[in-house]
Parts: sequence; C-alpha cells; structure tokens
Amino acid sequence: MWDLTQLYPDDAAWDAERLAVKSALPGVKPFKGTLGTDAATLLRAMDTTSALTKRLGRLNTYASLKADENLKNTKPQEMRQLMQALSSEYGQAVSWMRPEIAALGKDKLEEFIKAEPGLAKHAFGLRDIQRLAAHVLSDEAESILAGTSVVRAGPNAIYSQLSNAELPWPTVTLATGKTIRLDSQGYTEARQATNRDDRKRVFDAFFGAWNQYHNTIGQMYVSSVRGDVFGARSRKYPTALAASLAANDVPDDVYKSLVKSANDGLPTLHRYFKLRQRLLGLKEIRYYDIYPPMLKSDRKFPIERTRELTLAAMQPLGPDYVAKITKATGERWANIYPTEGKRAGAYMNPGAYDVHPYLLLNHHDTYDGLSTYAHEWGHAMHSVLANEAQPYENAGYPLFLAEIASTCNEMLLADRMVADAKTKDDKLFYLGQILESLRGTFFRQTMFAEFELKTHEAIERGEALSGDKLSAIYLDLLKRYHGDREGVMKIDDLYGVEWAFIPHFYRAYYVYQYATSISAAAWFAEQIQTKGDAGRDNYLAVLKAGGSDHPVAILQKAGLDMTKPEPYQALVRRMDRIMDEMEKLLAEKN
Ligand SMILES: [Zn+2]
Repeated sequence: MWDLTQLYPDDAAWDAERLAVKSALPGVKPFKGTLGTDAATLLRAMDTTSALTKRLGRLNTYASLKADENLKNTKPQEMRQLMQALSSEYGQAVSWMRPEIAALGKDKLEEFIKAEPGLAKHAFGLRDIQRLAAHVLSDEAESILAGTSVVRAGPNAIYSQLSNAELPWPTVTLATGKTIRLDSQGYTEARQATNRDDRKRVFDAFFGAWNQYHNTIGQMYVSSVRGDVFGARSRKYPTALAASLAANDVPDDVYKSLVKSANDGLPTLHRYFKLRQRLLGLKEIRYYDIYPPMLKSDRKFPIERTRELTLAAMQPLGPDYVAKITKATGERWANIYPTEGKRAGAYMNPGAYDVHPYLLLNHHDTYDGLSTYAHEWGHAMHSVLANEAQPYENAGYPLFLAEIASTCNEMLLADRMVADAKTKDDKLFYLGQILESLRGTFFRQTMFAEFELKTHEAIERGEALSGDKLSAIYLDLLKRYHGDREGVMKIDDLYGVEWAFIPHFYRAYYVYQYATSISAAAWFAEQIQTKGDAGRDNYLAVLKAGGSDHPVAILQKAGLDMTKPEPYQALVRRMDRIMDEMEKLLAEKN
C-alpha cells in the first residue's frame, strides 16, 4: 500500500501547507508590470511562480490520491475541491504573466536569458510563450474567449450526463441464461462472450440503443466540433488541427503521416483478422468477433510473480534502469489491490517532484494485470529518470511522450514472455495478446483520428453534419479499416453508429497520440533489441529529456522522425513478425 505520509505526515499538515500556499499567492502581484525591467527581476518572478506550482503539485497529489483510495469518503473529496479552488486562484493570480512575457519580444527575452544564467531552467518555457505570442489576443478578446470556455464545455457535459446516467440501456439474456444490462461496462464485458450468437445479440442491442438517439448525439458532437473550430479561428490558426497540435509544437505532418501509414498498413490488419477468424474457427468474421480471446490461458500472475517477471523483462534497459526499478517497486509507491470504493483502472501520478511518483493499480492475477503493472511502472520510471536529469521546470512531459515509456515496457515484457514460454499454447497466447493490443492502440485509434479529422474538416468547409451523416462517415471508415470491400470482414450498417459511444471525441485531436506513441515504442523496442547499448542509451536519453523540449524535437534528437512513415512502419513490421511466428507455430502444431 502506498505511503502518503511521505507527502505530508497527516491531513492537518496538508491543510497547513495549503493555507501557506494560499497566503503566498499575493506575493506574485508586485511583479506585475516589471518583467521587462531586467533579467534579475524576470528570474525572481519565474522562481516565485515555479516554487508555487511545485508546492501546488504536491498538495494536489496528496488530495487526489487520498480521494481515490475511497471515492465514497467525503472528506478527501472536499480536499480535492479545495485544491481545485486553490489552483484556479493561482491561475488568476498569474494570468497576467503570459501576455507580459509575450510582449517582451524575442530579442529582449534572448538578451535576458543570455545575461542571467539562472534563467536557463526557465528558458524553454519562456521561449514557448514567445513561440505562441502571435496567437495571444488583446486583453479584451482574451477575456471574452475565456468566458466562452464554459459554453464550449456544454456538449461534453450533456453527453456525459446522457451516456453515464440517462440513456435507457437494453438488457440481453445470454445463452447461459444470465441477463446483462448493457451499459458501457456491461457491453465491454459481454462483447467478449465465447458464444457467437450472444455477441451478435449484444452488439445489436447495444448499438441499437445508441442508434435511437444518434441525431441528438450528433447535434452534441457537432456543437463540440464547432466550438473547436471557433476557438482555432479566434486564435488565428488555419484549422482546428493546427490549433490543437500547436500546443506541443507537433507538425501537421505527424498526423497526416500517421493516417497515411496506417492506411498503407491495412493489409497487415486484414491479415490479423484472417488469423483471428482461423483461430476462432469461424467461416466468416464479423465486427462482433473482434473481442473474444483468440486463445486462452489459465496462467496466474500474483503480485510477487508479476514484479519478478517485470523486473526480468527490463534487463534490455540496462543495469541502471533495472537497479532503479527494482528499488522503486520494493518501496511503498503503489496502491496495488482493488478495494471497496477505490477508483477503477490504473494510473501513475508524477505530481510530487520532490518525493516520488505514486501508482494506483487494481491488480488481478491475469496477464492483463501483469501487462498493466509493466505499463504503469514504465510511466513511473520515466518520471524517475526525468526528475533526476531535469530541474522541476523541465521534468514534466506531455502525453505524446508519456505513452512511449509505458508501451515500450509492455513490449519488452511481451517479448520476454514469448521467449520464455514453455509450451506452444503459451507462446501463441502471448503473441495473440500483443497483436490485439497493437490493433486496438494503433489501428483503432488512428481510425478515430481520421474520423475527427473528417468531421472537423467538414465543419471548416461550412458543411452541415447530422447524426445520419456522422454514421455514414464512420461506417465508411469501419469498412475500409476492416476490409469490407476486400471480403475480409463484412460490417453491418448499424455499427456505423459506434462514433456515438466514444467519449474521447469530445476532446478533439487527443487519441492520435496513443497511436503515435505505440509506434515510437515499437521503433525503440526494435532499436534496443538490434543496436545493443547504443540503441538502449538512445532510448533512455528520451526518457531523461523529460519535457526539456517539444516532444517531436526530443524524438528527432534520438533519430526518430515522427513526420515520416518510418515509426509507423516499425509497428506494422512488428505485427507482421508476430503473425509470421504464430503461423509457424500453428503449422508445426498440425
Ligand atoms: Zn499509460
């Protein structure tokens, strides 16, 4: 169990620190209007706010972890709310800083950075504000734009209300006699049913329910897209895509290259569906045949075994990494088992820079539990290495990089499990698991990315979009990705409404990063395996870089150009290699 006393000895100490930070906020105000005076003044202002955000990060971490231990306890929920209030108070106290830094101009800023060595650790952040200065509007316009954010959040709020609470979910009775209510959780479970008729019944009932509201949900989604386009145009970006990617200085070509490469790789995806069809023993494969396991394993991985296997699988990352992860996994950083009221899922929280990362797991003894453990520790080690190598200001990294560290660990684990498997069945099981995760993270997320691009471009061209039209666009993508025309998998028209079920679409241009990350991870895993110490050190340098530069630039320094097809081809190659191996094993078997 994690030890939160390493953050604060108790709630009272946390509250005292919260009040201390609150009373320190007015200390920022005297700097207003002085940032251009000289380099020393700018440094003092930057150090002041940096120290505050670091303290806020630690306070937030404590409140948030405490709250997640048991969501039914009201006190920690209140603590979390107090932190939301304090963070927003902080935001208001420093809101004048970005425009004032932007107004300094490039030359003056560079002069200051040169004159004052203390500004080195702030340089990346300061230059980034300069970079985006052309998209900062007048005070009045900024204030109006800030006021629209609550209005623009409307579609997502309405969608959550409907999809989490009020949509009337159907129930289906499975062949076993068990009746299941098909809400989102029930659907995720029931779609894995081994009985094929059950799966079809589940799909038809679930998507039938969404379909009844598809025009209403279409209006919600289109309003959300219109909000994205409005925000982008207000800030003088050519497109909503450009506005979204600008935050991390990701070139449009990354998105375009991803989509193009995924399409070029579709024959590999179709090969997977044929293999899946063969393993499931089906005459034809349909969309509802994607989720049941192709192969079963009753191997159990209790936590001690999970830890041992993960540590062994990290050997290719070198003695330093292994020593650090061995030590860290032996300490009280993680909340491991599911308990009553605890938050579902798994995450790593890097918020307390001076302490260490914390991990929330809900460990179960399956391969999935083992893989999640390796994934989340990949995140934690990323932060450990970045925090050691970088000052606080440059340690934090965006999602674009984050999922590389976690999925690379998953791949190293999977490769090790395959290599060490004692029986053909075990080997096939692990290989099948990897394939399924590559399908879901690379191809499916890229298909989502393509949908978002199409809907935003339609609105940008001034076209009208209804629920019917959205379903038609999505159905078209489903058919293309799943090889409907090639006779690989026939897609029923009803499943074109699946877009209505994907909550991520209300956060535009976000999910593509899962696909880019897993591609980069496949590329690095290949480098680590084929280039020895040089490949490994090159990869570790990316982790150690933290957020010291923009993500695409950090990867470029490691020799990986995300605007080119290479990283995506590495992922497709990996899928093909795995299928070669599986087909070989299957041939031996018979
Ligand atoms: Zn992750």
